[in-house]
Amino acid sequence: MKYVLVTGGVVSGLGKGVTASSIGVVLKACGLRVTSIKIDPYLNTDAGTMSPFEHGEVFVLDDGGEVDLDLGNYERFLDVTLTRENNITTGKIYQSVLEKERKGDYLGKTVQVVPHITDAIKNWIESVSVIPVDGKDGPADVCVIELGGTVGDIESMPFIEALRQLFFSVGQDHFCLIHVSLIPVLGVVGEQKTKPTQHSVRELRALGLTPHFLACRSAQPLLENTKQKLSQFCHVPVGNILNIHDVPNIWHVPLLLRNQNAHDAILKHLDLLSVAKPPNLQ
Ligand code: ADP
Repeated sequence: MKYVLVTGGVVSGLGKGVTASSIGVVLKACGLRVTSIKIDPYLNTDAGTMSPFEHGEVFVLDDGGEVDLDLGNYERFLDVTLTRENNITTGKIYQSVLEKERKGDYLGKTVQVVPHITDAIKNWIESVSVIPVDGKDGPADVCVIELGGTVGDIESMPFIEALRQLFFSVGQDHFCLIHVSLIPVLGVVGEQKTKPTQHSVRELRALGLTPHFLACRSAQPLLENTKQKLSQFCHVPVGNILNIHDVPNIWHVPLLLRNQNAHDAILKHLDLLSVAKPPNLQ
């Protein structure tokens, strides 16, 4: 199993869900089978009890799971049928660990965030990623994982640590980290500012994860010198800096990625070029 992790920096609501789904679409167009997992670091067990005014619609899956609306994006973009297990929340993870603790499964050990919560997160990801969601037999080739929230949030720390350990255990060519960040433009002079992205990448690196790709959300396409600066200060090759500027319709995002050959760079990183075909996207 190859993992593509999508994290977000600077502000929430940047378009991580849309970016993650679009990456899935482009990989699927290259002939790969794709599944997805959405991580929501809130304590609610699921989105069923959350106000739609605060959190957007509750998406109901075929198995009755009440989940985050991003799973609706994944189902529509990727033509898959997800299960309630494809949405991980802090509430679900703690519930499973506490149930095990009550049963005495930890054999008298002190139950802690590290390693028990982080191990539960890793095991959950590894077991859910192999569930077929596209009606075919056997596991998918790639699992796109979206980590909700913003890097640096206290509540997402156990997930970042679990994902860091997962990266370490599966290795570089099985794990690709794409960090979605904001490139604002200040004032009428119109300079694209890279500093917020530099800070969020630094935060991520301090937690042990270095992004392989940057997906930059901006109002207008990135200028060449903005890319150069980002590359130099964020330790990401220029060819791996993807430009996801505002588009009138989110269905344009997969095309935007395809036009930048994002699929080639991601497939190369994951050592999947030999099994993929040219993307078939209209
Ligand atoms: P996040 O997962 O980071 O909270 P979402 O993927 O839910 O963000 O997107 C937040 C909002 O931004 C949605 O309304 C989505 O339609 C919009 N959006 C995302 N990407 C783009 C884009 N490239 N251009 C225009 N709107 C976008």
